[in-house]
Amino acid sequence: MSERLLILGNSAAALAALRAYREKGGKGQVTLVSREPCPAYSPVLTTYYLRGRIPETGLFVCDTAFYEKSGVETLFGQTVVGLDTKDQRVFLDDGKKIAYDLLLIATGASPRRLEGLAADVAADIGYLRTIGDARRIEERAKKAAHVVVVGGGLVSLQVATALARPGLRVTGVVSSQQLLSQNIDAGYRGRPGPAPHRAQRECRVPLRGECSGDT
Ligand SMILES: Cc1cc2nc3c(=O)[nH]c(=O)nc-3n(C[C@H](O)[C@H](O)[C@H](O)COP(=O)(O)OP(=O)(O)OC[C@H]3O[C@@H](n4cnc5c(N)ncnc54)[C@H](O)[C@@H]3O)c2cc1C
Repeated sequence: MSERLLILGNSAAALAALRAYREKGGKGQVTLVSREPCPAYSPVLTTYYLRGRIPETGLFVCDTAFYEKSGVETLFGQTVVGLDTKDQRVFLDDGKKIAYDLLLIATGASPRRLEGLAADVAADIGYLRTIGDARRIEERAKKAAHVVVVGGGLVSLQVATALARPGLRVTGVVSSQQLLSQNIDAGYRGRPGPAPHRAQRECRVPLRGECSGDT
């Protein structure tokens, strides 16, 4: 029996590994599990989708034919909930078990959640990572009069500018002293620059220490 390669995840890391495996002559039986019910797409483009710059179809980086051509069995819409490294198998949320010889865990990252909030407040919060998250944010923003974007990094700024439209108030809340604090040296604030400049023109972004009553 040929080796069984099991890939968990279906995004940049998983696809790069799959391509490399086949390019290097890997002939094993490959199974790929993803909790999302669709072929791979680029999370990077979700803010462009929110902004209306690209249609949802423009997010996808491959179609189902790609997996067929690559000789991969896909299990989309299934979540891995457990792993037994001794017996070399993983457990799926529907009770299935999948055995493997080689395992690649490429399940990525997820946004930090805001903890300790009342249920009604928590229900109003959207987190952006997946195509489903982007769809939900888009739907909620259509009905909203005021959106608060938490964070002052690249993704937050892109979301703020994506959602900004006449009649919708957008407020950014940033815990550090400046926008893009992970990317730009302290003291940058006030100088012209691409993303913060654009965001501050279109949205109100109070920085720590200058928050007003409306944030
Ligand atoms: C809005 C936005 C903008 C970004 N912009 C940039 C940028 O400009 N430049 C840049 O370098 N990076 C950017 N990133 C980050 C970039 O998207 C990630 O670094 C990249 O997607 C990571 O790829 P990955 O394959 O490691 O994981 P992910 O893209 O997180 O994919 C994880 C995969 O694992 C699956 N999965 C997770 N848990 C399970 C489970 N339990 N069971 C089954 N499947 C599971 C998911 O369904 C998904 O298929 C951005 C991200 C976002 C959200």
